[in-house]
Amino acid sequence: MTWVYDFAEGSKDKKDLLGGKGANLAEMTNLGLPVPPGFTISTETCRAYLAEGGEPEGLAEEVTEHLAALEEAMGKKLGDSDDPLLVSVRSGAKFSMPGMMETVLNVGLNDTSVGGLAARSESERFAQDSYRRLLQMFGGTVLHVHSELFSEALDEVKKAKGTENDLDLDADDLRGLVETFKDIIRTETGRDFPQDPREQMDLAIRAVFDSWNTDRARLYRRQERIPEDLGTAVNVQAMVFGNFGMDSGSGVAFTRDPASGTQGEYGDYLQNAQGEDVVAGIRNTVSLADMAEIDRTSHDDLMRIMTRLERHYRDMCDIEFTVERGKLWMLQTRVGKRTPEAAFRIAVHMVDEGMIQMDEAVLRVTGDQLAQLMFPRFDESADRTLLAKGMNASPGAAVGKAVFDSDTAVEWADRGEDVILVRKETNPDDLRGMVAARGILTSRGGKTSHAAVVARGMGRTCVCGAESLDVDTKARQFRVRDGETIREGDVISIDGTTGEVFAGAVPVADSVVVRHFEGEKLDDDLAQAVARIMAHADGARRLRVRSNADTPDDAARARRFGAQGIGLCRTEHMFLGERRELVEKLIVAEDETGVEAALDELLPLQRQDFTEILEAMDGLPVTIRLLDPPLHEFLPDLTELSVEVALAEERGEVDEHAKRLLTHVRRLHEQNPMLGLRGVRLGIQIPGLFRMQARSIAEAAADRMAAHGTPRPEIMVPLVASVRELEIVRSEIDQQIAEVEEERGVKLDIAIGTMIELPRAAFLANRIAKSADFFSFGTNDLTQMAWGFSRDDVEASFFSRYFEHGIFDVSPFESLDQLGVGGMVEMGTKKGRKTKSDLKVGVCGEHGGDPLSVHFFDQVGLNYVSCSPFRVPVARLEAGRSVL
Ligand code: ADP
Ligand code: MG
Ligand code: MG
Repeated sequence: MTWVYDFAEGSKDKKDLLGGKGANLAEMTNLGLPVPPGFTISTETCRAYLAEGGEPEGLAEEVTEHLAALEEAMGKKLGDSDDPLLVSVRSGAKFSMPGMMETVLNVGLNDTSVGGLAARSESERFAQDSYRRLLQMFGGTVLHVHSELFSEALDEVKKAKGTENDLDLDADDLRGLVETFKDIIRTETGRDFPQDPREQMDLAIRAVFDSWNTDRARLYRRQERIPEDLGTAVNVQAMVFGNFGMDSGSGVAFTRDPASGTQGEYGDYLQNAQGEDVVAGIRNTVSLADMAEIDRTSHDDLMRIMTRLERHYRDMCDIEFTVERGKLWMLQTRVGKRTPEAAFRIAVHMVDEGMIQMDEAVLRVTGDQLAQLMFPRFDESADRTLLAKGMNASPGAAVGKAVFDSDTAVEWADRGEDVILVRKETNPDDLRGMVAARGILTSRGGKTSHAAVVARGMGRTCVCGAESLDVDTKARQFRVRDGETIREGDVISIDGTTGEVFAGAVPVADSVVVRHFEGEKLDDDLAQAVARIMAHADGARRLRVRSNADTPDDAARARRFGAQGIGLCRTEHMFLGERRELVEKLIVAEDETGVEAALDELLPLQRQDFTEILEAMDGLPVTIRLLDPPLHEFLPDLTELSVEVALAEERGEVDEHAKRLLTHVRRLHEQNPMLGLRGVRLGIQIPGLFRMQARSIAEAAADRMAAHGTPRPEIMVPLVASVRELEIVRSEIDQQIAEVEEERGVKLDIAIGTMIELPRAAFLANRIAKSADFFSFGTNDLTQMAWGFSRDDVEASFFSRYFEHGIFDVSPFESLDQLGVGGMVEMGTKKGRKTKSDLKVGVCGEHGGDPLSVHFFDQVGLNYVSCSPFRVPVARLEAGRSVL
């Protein structure tokens, strides 16, 4: 077993084994860039250490060998009293986990070698500064001393000196600080700081391994969906010193602007500093342009290396470097994280610069990034007062009055006010308030907290874990750390994309990307980048993308967004509003004549609905689903109506209509409506209903033909479990179509298909296909039926527990459960096509717009996905990425 690898043995493709940092240090070493030498202890070692609860056998010997080689190369011995070699011990997992794990610099210094370092460098100040840094980092991360104890001691010395700048401390001050730090360590841990350099190194390595399992590292992995079992590598590297004096320094840089994607290097440099100072913000950094004024040679070397790295990685890189007495050293690089807009710009810029092909550019962006770009934005040029920053739990920009409980949220929303529900954290009781609110703000909890999960599920903007807010629900107010108080009714703005919370109403602007999809001609490079990438994805993809749309407006928008048809047109909303009365008439009808009369009134209205949608989608397929929900949804609430009738009776009034209605509401009331009289069962129970719908579709198609249109309606029967159900309903529909053809003297081309949304239907798809021209998987219901839980009840109640236990890491309603529900989709498709080899198969429901699910549907050979209009571009992009 090999545990340890020299930097020269690795490469950038070995991230699994060497972690990201180690693999890229190896890559830079092999490119001949100036990287201080060192070695990497593999992630395998960490896994073995964690499993065995201690260092695996042979590790100590291998470390000794590699250390000896490093000492040989540097011509110095670790912690030598005359001329010490110092090393850094750096964590580095496969995926970067910023700030989560530990790094210790200047390992090898002790009471003796600090003198050697001072003599060799001819700088007592530098040596003492390095030693106090070691004590500080080692004390904090390896010995778990509260790091504030060190920073407070440092602040005191600065204060005594009357300065805020650490550079004003001289060698004596720092020597004093070294003694203070050693005292702190002794008091806090009951032992002395270890003087043996090798012991320091071994303890630091062990601390890096242990840091994999700290609470915050676990939490971070859960949020970022990084697997628990990867472990981290440890890099041991010869130190170079940016704290040597003003001719030295340390910095970070990007080869392009990671926020906007604009070409040109971008970074921060700090003179006379070690690496951690740059990010910690202890002094103000300068730009790379200013660095050129300070040290032209190092700056130019850096520019050359950055260009080289970008060409080599063919992507934007982020970099850590140090200058030691005018010589540049590279300490880290990786492909840099970027904002969604930067991702799109960089991808097309790199195509234009000849670095990558369009295929690659499409793979460099994601549907999630595109979705982020489509959310409305707060206008950044507006005056804004930042109150706090929390976690960006569910994107969007929401403005409203702060309210602190669900009752108020519902009450205020009912009278037409926009509200933001503010809570410490939410629980299932807050659901009503969350539904009523424009956005949700909490001071506790992470991206998998109740608030975050539920808000994402509902598409509600949410900022969670804004810890600097002191939320007092009793007093109906929250306090911001610097003292400002926001009371119930005060307007706030929350940005779920950035996690920011602002006072007052920040103006909201439509995103340029949406304006582009809407067809506006824009002179905007982001819109153009998106357009080019979309065009390439469209050219590549096999899967077609349709939209779910119930109204002509939605249909038209979906078409502008690139939908190739409607995959799901629900008819239930067509029975609401003023038409509710007609539905009531239908339900309370005493006899066949009454039923027919009610249906006759509904028919022309339905025909009008369909004509308009067919017109908006002229030439493209429109799948219309026959009525699906239980009828009681169109009637008054049982409890409310009962109370109303009882009260009327008490007053001695008789309301015959209400009483009759109540009988029917009672009759139709169901314990479990999701599993009750709905879907195809309605069509069998009340045949006239589906007949009326089929006829109005056929008449609408005939009308459109008369107007020289090209209508392509498809009729879809919901909730079928048995082929007999479909046969019965189908023969009724066929008859209606035939009658209309006869009456109007036209030939109509209307496909009749079914939803596959019950496990039984998936299992018997070969039989059902005999009677179906097409299938559409209703993965929302199929998920409910497969897991046996109802979305409305479970997401808010126990899902966060399920995430904690890893039962699933994303809601199966958000991203398809590929193993279970996906298995049924795959089986149903295969079985259906066994009966009809050219059976057209699609999917409708939220999953049709979810990136991972889209890839799955593409891979199992569906013909199309259908999703909400705003997800259409996302699905188009992901369908392209799936084949590239
Ligand atoms: P992180 O992953 O938190 O960035 P790093 O291991 O990269 O931790 O180290 C923290 C800081 O210390 C960085 O700025 C890095 O450049 C610096 N550093 C690490 N190793 C050395 C070294 N051998 N010589 C000088 N600076 C170093
Ligand atoms: Mg780093
Ligand atoms: Mg359904």
